[in-house]
Amino acid sequence: MATVEQHPADILTTPNGAAHAGADIAVENPATGEIAGTVPDLDAAAVAEMARTGRDAQPQWEAFGFEARAQVLMRAQKWLMDNQERMIQTIISETGKTYEDAEFAEIGYAANAFGFWAKNAPRYLEDERVRSSQLLVKGKKLILRHRPLGLIGVIGPWNYPLTNSFGDCIPALAAGNSVILKPSEVTPLTSLLMAEGLRESGLPEGVFQVATGRGETGAALIEHVDMIMFTGSTRTGRKVAEAAARRLIPCSLELGGKDPMIVLSDADLERAANMAVYYSMQNAGQTCISIERVYVEAPAYDEFLGKVTEKMRALRVGAPHGPGSVEVGAITFPPQLATIEDHVKDALDKGARTLTGGHARHDGGGRFYEPTLLVDVDHTMKIMTEETFGPTLPIMKVADAEEAVRLANDSPYGLGASVFTRDTARGEEIAKRIHAGAANVNDALINYTVLELPMGGAKASGLGSRHAAGGIRKFCAQQAIVITPRLALKREVHMFPYKAKTTRMLSRFFKFMYGRGKGISKES
Ligand code: NDP
Repeated sequence: MATVEQHPADILTTPNGAAHAGADIAVENPATGEIAGTVPDLDAAAVAEMARTGRDAQPQWEAFGFEARAQVLMRAQKWLMDNQERMIQTIISETGKTYEDAEFAEIGYAANAFGFWAKNAPRYLEDERVRSSQLLVKGKKLILRHRPLGLIGVIGPWNYPLTNSFGDCIPALAAGNSVILKPSEVTPLTSLLMAEGLRESGLPEGVFQVATGRGETGAALIEHVDMIMFTGSTRTGRKVAEAAARRLIPCSLELGGKDPMIVLSDADLERAANMAVYYSMQNAGQTCISIERVYVEAPAYDEFLGKVTEKMRALRVGAPHGPGSVEVGAITFPPQLATIEDHVKDALDKGARTLTGGHARHDGGGRFYEPTLLVDVDHTMKIMTEETFGPTLPIMKVADAEEAVRLANDSPYGLGASVFTRDTARGEEIAKRIHAGAANVNDALINYTVLELPMGGAKASGLGSRHAAGGIRKFCAQQAIVITPRLALKREVHMFPYKAKTTRMLSRFFKFMYGRGKGISKES
């Protein structure tokens, strides 16, 4: 059994021995049923105390400046590499995911993100000199400033405890904020281990804290922070947005998805089939940007389906025992299994067929679902319209690209999408017609690894985005600064007392500037 060596309560920053709400939370290994550790269920009073600690610690951290903060982040990157195996085992112990899913999509992401934000925080946040065509500010110095908001709350889901829970803490810290992370009650151990890593990397006490607990702990956190970064279901995201609105604090929401894949008849079907299987089954389908539904143009349908069926049959499911042992790991969150079973049953009841899988498995005390390929599906079925978040792959035959685009957009979600065709110009044109925050041509999900590109959902998939400039500026308040030089006019031309001559002169000026209906100046 993999556990965090230190008891989580020892490494949790609860100042002055803050009280918590009685019972601890037992963390289960979903692949074995064993208990991987326990964490405190923090109550609102404990969260309030952590918020005070975070606020006290923030000014010193901000005063570090970009370079000194970057040094801490770079040491944390090295710490992660030095402690890679321990981190992988901790992630596996609470998610039941495969060794590769922990290494590639969690360690790989976080390690890259430490370096990216250490390097790019100044580029995105340093004071910017702004030019203006506005006559009244000629000769003045105009500055756009991004200053840290102060105390950021990050609430994360269980599917990627490092990438999606902790990942957003990195830019928030790089910007000079204190952060309190509320990980999912199902997967808190990774965040606690990361807190230990940050402390060993020289992050000052109180700048990063982990508030373990359930939904109530997350709700309490929103009451104390200056901004809330939430990743999770659309249902909870709405509650978070409402709570943030009541406090008038900004929130950024990364929510659910139902990502479509479109396969045109001229596609490289071998590549498309590999992508469909990998990006629907990776992390046992528990990825917000998993391929959740596929539309294939009729001429390519049989060949594509044959390839996918063969590849799905070759997948091994079960508890991971080191690298290369299984492709599909456990279902991390117990109620998720019921959702998967419900969606598959609903599809079968309405006329769909399974070509592989279709059953839950409980080998060795674990919780698994077989890689499940469904055909004869349509949009009356939940499997094509609601987020399944499991190892299911429904494939639908369509007449042409137009039908595929129409069905791809027939969704309340708009997180990611992919299009496969050898005609990349056409692929790009189709990608642009899909209402999603990200779209890949001849690939899928890969945009998430590109931290230079924004990642955020359209429609019910979210508000705001992570990565790129927006992924760090959202943790800051903008401040506009206008500096008038020492040798300025005693009185500006538009001021009191009003004189007819001056007013007529300004009138002529406005007409000259704006009355010609042409000529967009560079600065306007
Ligand atoms: P949930 O919405 O159930 O939970 C997310 C977090 O919110 C958890 O830490 C949860 O705590 C907490 N929470 C629950 N209730 C409240 C509340 N009232 N106020 C504040 N916080 C609360 O999501 P899941 O953990 O089930 O995650 C899966 C979902 O996340 C999927 O829909 C997936 O698509 C989405 N997701 C989106 C991503 C994106 O980038 N768009 C990335 C990854 C996942 P607790 O767990 O203790 O109840």
